[in-house]
Amino acid sequence: MANKAIIELLHVTRRYRNNKSSAAHDISFKVEEGEVLALLGPSGSGKTTLLRLIAGFEAPDQGEIFLEGREVGSGTVFVPPERRGIGMVFQDYALFPHLSVAANVVFGLSHLNRRDQARKEDEILELVGLSSLRHRYPHELSGGQQQRVALARALAPDPIVLLLDEPFSNLDPDMRTQMQREVSSILEKTGSTAILVTHDHEEAFAMADQVALLNEGELEQHDTPEVIYHTPASPFVADFVGKADFIPGIVRNHLITTEIGPFPNKQELPTGTEVMVMIRPDDIDLIPNPRAENTLFRRQFRGSENVYRILLPSGQVLHSSQHSLTVYPDQTKVELKLKVTHTVVFEKSTGIFEKDAYGRYRVRSRG
Ligand code: ADP
Repeated sequence: MANKAIIELLHVTRRYRNNKSSAAHDISFKVEEGEVLALLGPSGSGKTTLLRLIAGFEAPDQGEIFLEGREVGSGTVFVPPERRGIGMVFQDYALFPHLSVAANVVFGLSHLNRRDQARKEDEILELVGLSSLRHRYPHELSGGQQQRVALARALAPDPIVLLLDEPFSNLDPDMRTQMQREVSSILEKTGSTAILVTHDHEEAFAMADQVALLNEGELEQHDTPEVIYHTPASPFVADFVGKADFIPGIVRNHLITTEIGPFPNKQELPTGTEVMVMIRPDDIDLIPNPRAENTLFRRQFRGSENVYRILLPSGQVLHSSQHSLTVYPDQTKVELKLKVTHTVVFEKSTGIFEKDAYGRYRVRSRG
């Protein structure tokens, strides 16, 4: 049986008057019960616009939004935010500074009697690990603690869905990773359905069951993190979710011929098709060989790995990540061993590639 859709967007478009293009264009997706969806994309790609449409701070110009099967936003229906049953956690937490932790948490519970409020307060503070700090005020808390209060306040009224708007961007990197883990574990315990807005693919991958990747108001791909990373639907996705190099190739005799050898023609593209082959740094192994034509240069030490640049005879550059203890001197000649099953091929005619000043291919952002 299919899981219940908690949120559904159908062909949602939002256009701002002073903008030529849509902030969100023809977006459709579902979020199922208990699922965490990350809305991922660069700045200006439409993430906040979608969150605001779902929360009810704005109405779509076209399309429909459903919450638990109930239409809440369309050309004809508009349910205001306070009647949508949504919990929000904002980037700056937006706690009430003059209220204690406990009072912040029960703020949205005025419909309950005192006893039920107290029970809920205990339950939620226990859940987020703040029971001992209930009498403190927001300015007496660390960033991570303030965020837990914001999460507790959003969860207290048992929302249908929790919307998290770049919730970790104000935390330092160590704290960010810890809070990502904590928030994930709290969402799992409560079985909450949530949408997380982020521009950080690692955060999206670490926290979400599904990722919706946006580019200039369009939904480029909606899939699990693994599918997005390993089989990106477009060069933009490939480039956005991790280091990716692209080398040109051409279909000949059922294979894709490139400067670094043949690749399988899995899409069965016709002979003569010009393509770009995407290669990730973890798909290339290196075999030192003085007679090889590829040259290593500029090793980058990243702690757990070394990332090498490889100059090919044509001037194209690839990257290879190797174990941090595998150190080759600069200018070492290497043969390349590729995990060809992993590579993804895009037709070159998509027009999204451009050559940089060195003649190397890059993904151009749309528009
Ligand atoms: P993101 O959250 O991914 O950074 P936004 O949803 O905030 O992106 O913005 C998407 C596009 O819509 C951008 O081009 C932005 O400039 C534009 N935009 C957002 N809000 C408004 C507004 N209130 N008025 C006009 N344009 C807006």
